[in-house]
Amino acid sequence: MAQLWSNHNTIFTAKPSPLATFISIIVLCILGFYTLHYVHSPSPLSSSQNALRFHQTFLSAASNDTVATYLRHLTMHPHVAGTQPSNETANYVLSHFKGLGLDAHSVPYKALLSYPTHSSLSLHFSNGTRADLPLSEWGGTRKIGVDGVVRPYHAYSPSGAVSHAKAVFVNLGRDEDYRLLGRVGVNVSGCVVLARRGNLPRFAVVEKAAAHGAAAVLLYTEGGGSGYRFRKGFERGTVMSGVGDPLSPGWAGVSGGESLSVDDADVSRRFPKIPSMPLSSEAAETILVSLGRAPVPAQWRKSVTSKVRRVGPGPTMVDFNYQGEKKVATIHDVFAVIRGLEEPDRYVLLGNHRDAWTYGAVDPNSGTAALLDIARRFARMRDLGWTPRRTLVFCSWDAEEFGMIGSTEWVEQNLGNLGSRAVAYLNVDCAVQGPGFNAGATPQLDNLLLEVLKKVKDPDLEGSTLYRNWADRDSQNVITRLGRVDSDFAAFVQHSGIPSIDLYYGRDFPVYHTAFDSYEWMTNYGDPLFQRHVAVAGVWGLLALRLADDSILPFNYCSYAEQLKGHTELLSKFLDGIGYLSPLTTSIQEFASVAKEIEIEIEAQMLREQESSTSELVTLKKRALNDRLMLTERGFLDTDGLDGKRWFKHLIYGPTNDLESELDFFPGIADAKLRSAGMNLRQRQALIQHEIWRVARAVQRATSALRGELS
Ligand SMILES: [Zn+2]
Repeated sequence: MAQLWSNHNTIFTAKPSPLATFISIIVLCILGFYTLHYVHSPSPLSSSQNALRFHQTFLSAASNDTVATYLRHLTMHPHVAGTQPSNETANYVLSHFKGLGLDAHSVPYKALLSYPTHSSLSLHFSNGTRADLPLSEWGGTRKIGVDGVVRPYHAYSPSGAVSHAKAVFVNLGRDEDYRLLGRVGVNVSGCVVLARRGNLPRFAVVEKAAAHGAAAVLLYTEGGGSGYRFRKGFERGTVMSGVGDPLSPGWAGVSGGESLSVDDADVSRRFPKIPSMPLSSEAAETILVSLGRAPVPAQWRKSVTSKVRRVGPGPTMVDFNYQGEKKVATIHDVFAVIRGLEEPDRYVLLGNHRDAWTYGAVDPNSGTAALLDIARRFARMRDLGWTPRRTLVFCSWDAEEFGMIGSTEWVEQNLGNLGSRAVAYLNVDCAVQGPGFNAGATPQLDNLLLEVLKKVKDPDLEGSTLYRNWADRDSQNVITRLGRVDSDFAAFVQHSGIPSIDLYYGRDFPVYHTAFDSYEWMTNYGDPLFQRHVAVAGVWGLLALRLADDSILPFNYCSYAEQLKGHTELLSKFLDGIGYLSPLTTSIQEFASVAKEIEIEIEAQMLREQESSTSELVTLKKRALNDRLMLTERGFLDTDGLDGKRWFKHLIYGPTNDLESELDFFPGIADAKLRSAGMNLRQRQALIQHEIWRVARAVQRATSALRGELS
C-alpha cells in the first residue's frame, strides 16, 4: 500500500496545478478511507480476489523465535499418549488455538494402549561371568525413569520371561537373513534373537522371528550419528500391526460405543506372539562380540560392524524378562477451524500428531510447533480481513506412536462427511530431523507442491528456493508416494481416498524415539536457528492457502496418469510375464485422456470467471467441476479393500504383505504374487489376473468420477 501511495504522489507533484492538487487530495482521501476501512473490517469480497496478497502476508509473518518458543513449551516434559503430561500438552495446543480467537475444540476417544511395568536382561558368558545389561538411557534400575521418560519398550509386546536361552544374531531379521542362517546350519528355535533395525516394521521383525521358533526378540538401532549418547539410545516403538484402536477396528472408539474384548481373535492377531524389547547399540554390541559358532555370512559383512565375527547360537545365554500392561486410556484429538466464506462445507485439513515417546522435539513436536505458528499467522491474516474460500481445519492427533490411533478413530467417525467434503489432507509428522527437504504426495498434487516450492526460500542455501535445490531434478522420482503406513496420512489416503501430502526435513535422525529427542538436540543439531522449521511451515501453510483459496482446485490429473503409467511399467517387470496388463493399460489411457479434457475445461472455466464472476450459473458450474476434481481419488477405493486387510481400501497406494517388496504401489497385485508363490502356473495367473482387473476397475471408477457422468 505504501508504495502505491508514493507513486501517486510523484505523478501529481510533477505537474502542480490547483486542479491536480484537488484531485490528488480526493484520491488520497479515497485511498486512505479504503485502507482504514479495509484494515478494520473483514472484506465482504471473494477471498480469492485478495488471496495472493494474503499469501504474501503469510510468508512474511514467519518468525523463527516464535516457532522455537512453541517447541520449548511442547517439549518441557515427556508426553506419552494416555498420560497426564500428554493431557497437559493437549491443553497447551487447545489454549493456543483459543488464544488466537480460533474456533477450537477437543475430541476424546477410548483406546487400548500399552505400557511397561518391569524389564530386565542378564547375560551368562561362556567364561562363567554374568552381566546385567542396562535397559534405559540413564543406565540405572529406576522403575519409571528420569523425569518421567518411559523406560524403553515395545508397545503391545506380550509379557514374557525366558531364562537361559541362547543368543543368536539374525541381522535385519528378513526372510533372506533366515535363509542364509539356515544354509550355515543355524537354527534359532528357542533362542533369544538379536536383530538390527532396518526397513522392516518392528512387528514384522518379531513376527518372522516367532515363525522361526524364537522365544524372544531384542531389536537395536545403529545410531547414524556420532557421540556417546547415540550408542546409548533405545528406540521405543509399537509392535502392533495395522492402524487404529485394536478394540474398535473400523469404527470410532467412543465412550459407550462397541468395544471388542482384548481376547477377541480380531484383536489379538494384531499383537505379536512372543515378547520383544528395544536395545541400545552399545548393549547389543556386548552380546554380539561374545557370540560363537557360525561365522557372520559373507553377505552381511558389508553392513555389520567388523567387531562381530560370529552369530551364535550361544555360547552366551540370556535371561530375558519383559512385563507390561495393556489398558484402555482416553486420548484427545484437538482441532481449530477457520470457516470458509464461500464454500464452508469443503475442508482442507492440516494434521500433525502431538504424542511423543519421550520429549518429542523432533518426533513429532517440530511439526506441532510449525502447526501452531501457521495458526498464528492465519489468525493474523484473518484480523487483516482475509477469510478463506473453503474451511481450514487444524488437526492435532493423539496416540500416533501406538499405531496412528487418534487420526484413524477420527477419520472412522467422520468418514461420510470427509468422503463427500474433504478436499485434501496435509500431514507433517517430524517437521525437522536434520538437513534436506522431503515430500510425498498423491500425484494430482505434484504440480501444486512444485509451484509452492518455488515460493519458499531454501533455508540452507542463500538466494535459492526449495524448488531450485530439490525438485528441479526429476520431480516424479523425487516426490515419494503414500503407500507406507508410518504416519497419520494412512487413514486419509488408504482408508478414505483423500488427496494428501506429507512433508519433512531430514531423515533417519540418530535420536529417533530415544530419551535424547529433546529441545537441546534440536538446538544443537537438528535446526539450531529454526530456519528449517520456518521452511516447512512456509510450504505447509502455502499449500493449505492455495487449496483453501484457489477458485478452481489446483489438482492436476495428467500428472496422476503419468505416474500410473510409470507404475505399470515397473509392475510389468515385477510380474515378469505372469498376467496380462492390457485391462490396466487401457483404463489408464482412458484416465489420461479424460485428465487432458478436464485441463481444457479448467481453462474455459477460468475464462468464464474473468468475464462474469458473479453469475450464479458460473458459480454452480465451478462447484461441479471442483467436485469432480475432489472426488476422483475416491474412485481408487474398493469396498472390499485389500485381501486380508479390508480396512485398506485404496488399490493404488497401500501396504504390501511382502514388506521387502520393491513395489510400493498396487499392493493387491504385489500381495497376489506373494500368495501365489506355491501354486501351479494356472492358479498363479488366475489370482494375479483378478487383482489386475480390480485395479483396472478402480482406475475406471476414478475416470468416471473425473468425467462426472453416468454410463
Ligand atoms: Zn511421529
